[in-house]
Amino acid sequence: MSLTEITSRLTSAAQAHGRDLGDITLIAVSKVQPPERVQAVLEQGHRVYGENRVQEAQGRWPAFQEQFNGIDLHLIGPLQTNKARQAVEIFSTIHTVDRPKLATTLARLAQERGESPEVFVQINTGEEPQKAGCLPSEADAFIAEVRALDLPLKGLMCIPPVEEEPSLHFALLAKIAARNGLKGLSMGMSSDFESAIAQGATHIRVGSAIFGERDYS
Ligand SMILES: *Cc1c(COP(=O)(O)O)cnc(C)c1O
Repeated sequence: MSLTEITSRLTSAAQAHGRDLGDITLIAVSKVQPPERVQAVLEQGHRVYGENRVQEAQGRWPAFQEQFNGIDLHLIGPLQTNKARQAVEIFSTIHTVDRPKLATTLARLAQERGESPEVFVQINTGEEPQKAGCLPSEADAFIAEVRALDLPLKGLMCIPPVEEEPSLHFALLAKIAARNGLKGLSMGMSSDFESAIAQGATHIRVGSAIFGERDYS
């Protein structure tokens, strides 16, 4: 697939579900992809990218930023508090705030720097033990805590369990967001972004469908 195909599928899905295209951000997930593939998508004009490791992002994006204007980087992978400072320097948005210690660290950095990335609270909708994210039962309290810290909270993020119907998880995320007065929904990946759009996604995170399969070898 390609950026063009994904953009046209995104457009059709938005139309089919009465969604405004301007309310849906396509995050091209470039993690692990070879630089020439990323370069090609940059040359097609796309500017919003997702990475899941601070170090990988730091390694490759400064060079692209010299070459292309207006690059907007989103952190979509787990963040250790000891990498928070580096993260806030490079990412406009952090999608994976999931525990008080991290929220407190980000709030301290925001005070110190006078600015903060926008944040999403990650919810472990499938309650998977190995997965990051705040449990659904703890979500309301944690969201209140993030708000009390004055972090610019945009919304919620989830990664559904691989073996389950993603739309159930998207619906749960949308429900938690609605009852907390949050509009942002970071959900949907290569295999399920159309269903996420149907359920209100404002940020879809699409990697392999744009760049091709990732090669971890
Ligand atoms: C890798 C990743 C994606 C993109 O996955 P694809 O299936 O390649 O689209 C989206 N979200 C998160 C959190 C990821 O780690």
